[in-house]
Amino acid sequence: MRRIYAAVDIGATNIRVAYGDATGIKRKITEATDRNSGADCIAVQIIRMIRSLHIKGLVTIGVGSIGPLDLKAGCIAGTPNLPFRRIPVVAPLSETFRVPVGLLNDCAAAVLGERAFGAGRGLENIAYVTLSTGLGGGAMVDGHLLVGKDGNAVEIGHLTIDPDSELVCGCGCRGHWEAYCSGRNIPNYARLLMRGREAEGSLLLELAGGDPEGITTEALFDAADRGDSLALLIVGKIGEVNAIGFADIVNAYDPELITVGGSIALGNPALILDPIVEKIGRHLINRRPEIRITPLGEDAVLYGALALSMGTAP
Ligand SMILES: [Zn+2]
Repeated sequence: MRRIYAAVDIGATNIRVAYGDATGIKRKITEATDRNSGADCIAVQIIRMIRSLHIKGLVTIGVGSIGPLDLKAGCIAGTPNLPFRRIPVVAPLSETFRVPVGLLNDCAAAVLGERAFGAGRGLENIAYVTLSTGLGGGAMVDGHLLVGKDGNAVEIGHLTIDPDSELVCGCGCRGHWEAYCSGRNIPNYARLLMRGREAEGSLLLELAGGDPEGITTEALFDAADRGDSLALLIVGKIGEVNAIGFADIVNAYDPELITVGGSIALGNPALILDPIVEKIGRHLINRRPEIRITPLGEDAVLYGALALSMGTAP
């Protein structure tokens, strides 16, 4: 009988469910994450989505999820991105489908995906960074995936860039990397940089409707793409902060490859990667790794969940 593995990517915005095998994803479906029906409804939604795929020969389920996690309890615990304190994941899935269920932080899963299906094949030292609504990372060192006591290792979005910064992170702390460079917070950083700078006549201000409060991450990269000098200056400053964060990863984990995913990076590969590659050197003590956009695109976590699913199989 054929062995089929299910894969789940739990995001704050979307839930993706797929099945596949060692050759890759066979079929996938995406739905908006149910944020309105209580903590248990995330699992109910996933169960319904898996059932809708009519999988024959299901062996295991792998889940890559937004964090933070409580891995021992099999829960998402206190995520700032969903309005529920604890979201059970492993128990409802294993009780419903009667198969083993693996759970990992989404970026840790993405590292497994990169190694099994992406740019990291054959490598033992890999890091993955997502630049999306939030900012996160995962790392494999000497072939060992870093997981941590609760499942939250490599939570790089909350590395401190400047403890005296005016920018407050979603977690409540000042000056975290995510407070500058995540999709949610880039507009705040842009407004900070615009203070005292002449913005009149810039395309950026025009796209923002004439008011810095109207700046969106999308408008910033759109203006930079079209050569607006103010937008390019801000994108360059974002790149400087990203270069510090990426250098911290290289200095901490000594990877040979860093792949980058998430909507901000996938949508603006040159504007995001070029400044990092240009500016990382001044912060490095360790030898520079290859840094590139993930070839797995928006499915990096889903491929990771598939690799986790296969690795969890008895
Ligand atoms: Zn933070």
